[in-house]
Amino acid sequence: MIASTPVYRGRFAPSPTGPLHFGSLVAAVGSFLEARTRGGEWLLRMEDVDVPRCSKTAAAEILRTLEACGFAWDGEVVWQSRRNDAYAAALERLKLAGRVFACACTRRELADSAIAPDGAAIYPGTCRQGLAAGRPARAWRLRVGDARIGFDDAIQGRIDSDLAIDAGDFILLRADGLFAYQLAVVVDDAAAGITHVVRGADLLASTARQIFLQQCLGLPTPAYAHLPVAVNASGEKLSKQTRAAPVDAARPGPALFAALEFLGQLPSAELSGASPQELWAWAQAHWRLDRVPHGPLCPQCSTLTGRIIAP
Ligand code: GLU
Repeated sequence: MIASTPVYRGRFAPSPTGPLHFGSLVAAVGSFLEARTRGGEWLLRMEDVDVPRCSKTAAAEILRTLEACGFAWDGEVVWQSRRNDAYAAALERLKLAGRVFACACTRRELADSAIAPDGAAIYPGTCRQGLAAGRPARAWRLRVGDARIGFDDAIQGRIDSDLAIDAGDFILLRADGLFAYQLAVVVDDAAAGITHVVRGADLLASTARQIFLQQCLGLPTPAYAHLPVAVNASGEKLSKQTRAAPVDAARPGPALFAALEFLGQLPSAELSGASPQELWAWAQAHWRLDRVPHGPLCPQCSTLTGRIIAP
């Protein structure tokens, strides 16, 4: 019998740079409920491709917290740190197709570059036609040319991007020898057969780059839904850098309740003291993606943020 392609396969892909905080929990809850209420699978991937920034302890803590919250994922956890061969093979294909070029520029040499809406430097094109004599390759970049990418996000609506202005020729293999997030996520989503990506809107600015990369590699493009991003009282995205508090694995109910509320799901106040099991029973019966707010525009990051959560 031929295995049928699933109609829906989603995933949650935390970066283990610290314990699970409320912002990541929101992405886990949204992606999980959308997958399960559509009869889909939900996979878990540890995005530890940036090895020096990640820790095994943080990864173990995230898994423990997800389990304590009552999440159940399909199949084995995928670890990006074990998938270098797949990333190298993808880069090789792009080299053969002439889609990438070696870049010798140092950070200092790029310091005057134009800045993309997400704050990253736009590559000025110095090495695009080949390395200057005697200059060693430091990184590999993807040529974006005049690519324009548009997609319909299930929450944020139509997004159009001119890659030369919004990103420039972006890095796939970094000067420190590590593969870049953009390449890893595209290769991994395709390898896992992901059909739907539900994640935080802080990644909205990356999506056009990822779709372009999928096209360059001949890979399918999943459907996208970008959830509002939780910020602290200073308007900063919750993260390890902004010292977001970890979700309490010993008592995860209140954080789960808050995540459902944050996602516009209107759980009744009586559920505020409920166990994860009771909350999931309610959420699976009542989840509606069309209730998720898209959130106001955050001027600093030009991505979309949700309402303010006290730290
Ligand atoms: N690893 C990324 C993060 O934790 C998420 C990547 C994705 O969902 O595509 O922010």
